[in-house]
Formats: sequence, structure tokens, C-alpha cells
Amino acid sequence: MFTIDAHLDLSMNALEWNRDLRRPIAEINEREAGMTDKPDRAKGVVSLPELRKGNIGLVVGTQIARYVAPGNPLPGWHSPEQAWAQTQGQVAWYKAMEDAGEMVQINDFKSLEKHISLWADGKPNAAKPVGYILSLEGADSIVTIKHLEWAYNYGLRAVGPAHYGPGRYAQGTDATGFMGRAGHELLKEMERLNIILDATHLCDDSFWEALDHFNGHVWASHNNCRALVNHNRQYSDEQIKELVKRGAVIGAALDAWMMVPGWVRGQSDPKEMDCSLEVMIDHVDHICQIAGNSMHIGIGSDLDGAFGREQCPYDLETIADLQKIPALLKKRGYNETDIENMMHGNWLRFLRNAWK
Ligand SMILES: [Zn+2]
Repeated sequence: MFTIDAHLDLSMNALEWNRDLRRPIAEINEREAGMTDKPDRAKGVVSLPELRKGNIGLVVGTQIARYVAPGNPLPGWHSPEQAWAQTQGQVAWYKAMEDAGEMVQINDFKSLEKHISLWADGKPNAAKPVGYILSLEGADSIVTIKHLEWAYNYGLRAVGPAHYGPGRYAQGTDATGFMGRAGHELLKEMERLNIILDATHLCDDSFWEALDHFNGHVWASHNNCRALVNHNRQYSDEQIKELVKRGAVIGAALDAWMMVPGWVRGQSDPKEMDCSLEVMIDHVDHICQIAGNSMHIGIGSDLDGAFGREQCPYDLETIADLQKIPALLKKRGYNETDIENMMHGNWLRFLRNAWK
């Protein structure tokens, strides 16, 4: 089934992990054997050939670069300008993939429809470019508000104002507090440019403030449920209700610590923790029960978000295994329409509406 994944950090993997995503995943992993600089070395599950194999023809691809003030222990750049430069390298990689015929940027209604027909033409996927919608995870790199329009002009279509920790425009996961004046200006400019607000990673204070002040389109690209794994990174039932009310789609994430309670990074093992794709359906089901329908969920796997096989469902060998999800949904009693909604239909409806 045609599949959309609303959260992959492809350019981060290309530039910071030094992965040539055009190569087969086995080859990428082989080349990383023995490396210890990142926790997921030689355990990657995402490459462009695997996306094609899994019929994942459209993804939301991020730019990501954090600014850290003195005293902030998180990894990041020491000035917004450096963070901006990092994101420009990431754009250059996406453009290079376009020049190579490997990817294509999807940034309006017309390019979306054209791409969807291409992937529905019944021909093999091998020669098809993977579509990407450009999103910014954490807005620290937007040096001044003017930079947002420049970014829009090279294709940026969604922004998550925060990532982990305190941000320049909003507070993120594990932080607390409100958005402040800069954050409000950012939201206003996003609204003017019709940039989608990605509510993922906003801390509770900033989440409610953002939804109160933003009148544009809202999605949550990769988020699971607090009722199942209690952490501030996850959504409370009240937040899910609000997102449903706003017509949002929430992407279910496949990062093990967000799926099963009690996960200890670097220690827990997917098999021992019983973390399988089935667990993802629990989160999906929780959102569907709150919404009363299957219209507000999708996939936002995050499968290359600085983790690999050591921290994803044990029955997923590569991202192509997202194709196991329809059968799991069916087993839980979801019908064909529900399954299509989940695999691509909801993201498509959202985008068509946002870009009409
Ligand atoms: Zn994330």
C-alpha cells in the first residue's frame, strides 16, 4: 500500500552521520562497522532504496540544527547563524538528491498531485524519485523573522518551533515555559506564508499557547500517547482532543522509548521489552478512540532520528517493514478505509486542504 512517513531526518543522516542514503542499507551499515561515535552505528534502517521497497513514496524530510546558549548541555550550535548555515547544507543535500533524480520536492497542490499519480502508475518503484516535503524541526536556525520567507522560497512548508530543551522561539521537550514575543512573531509569519505548524516537541505551556495564537494548519508529525507511556514528550488525552478539534493528523512514532514504558536508552532491548510493531497500534488505537474515527492518525516513524535497530520494534528490520502495519490494523478490526487513512489518506487529505 502506498505509504507516507511524516518524519524522517534524512539530511541530518547524510551530513552528520555521513550516510549516502542512495546505497543499499546493508552497505551503509557495513561501512559503519566498528564505529562508536553514534549510538546507532551500523544499525540504520532507512535508505532511499528501502523507502522504495516499502512503497513509501512521500516523506516529510527535516532540516534540524539547534542553538545552545552557554550552560545548555544539549548538543548544538553556539550561534543561530551557525545553525542556519547547517540547515543550508541540509537543503543543499536535498537539492543534490533532486539533481541525481533520487528525490523530488513536493511543495504545492500541483506537485503533490503529479507525484501521487506517478507512484500510482503501476510501474516498479525503482526509477521513481522519493517525494519530500521540507520541514524544520526546531526553529532556532531562523536567525531573524526575514529568514523564514527565504526558507519558504526554497521550499520550507512546515515548522516545529521547538525540539528538545529551551528554544529561541518556543520551549521544547523536557523544558517548560511559554513562547514569548519572538515565538508569536514566528507564528504570525508562518500563518502569512501558509507554513504548517508542527506541534510535536512543544512543551505543554508552549503547545497550548501556540494553538491559541496560530490560525493556520496544524499537524503533529511524530508523537505518541502519554496515557500509554508517561512522559512530557507524549500527548495527554486533552492535547489529542484539541488536535482532533483543529483537524490535525498525528504521526505515530517508532522510537522504542516512546512506545513502551520503562525503556532505558542504551540499555533496554526491544525483544526483552516486548517492543513490536503491534505496540504502535496501541498508540494509534488510543488516538482513534479519542477521535471517534480513524481520520487523525498517520505514520511519522522517526526511524532515522539518531537511533536504529537497537531502539525500534524488533519485528522491523528496515523501514520497508512499515508494510506490515496494514495486516496488524486489520487484525485489530480496522477496515480497509481506516487502513488507507492511516497509511497515506489522512496526510494526503491534510495537505490537499492546506495547499488548495
Ligand atoms: Zn523529533
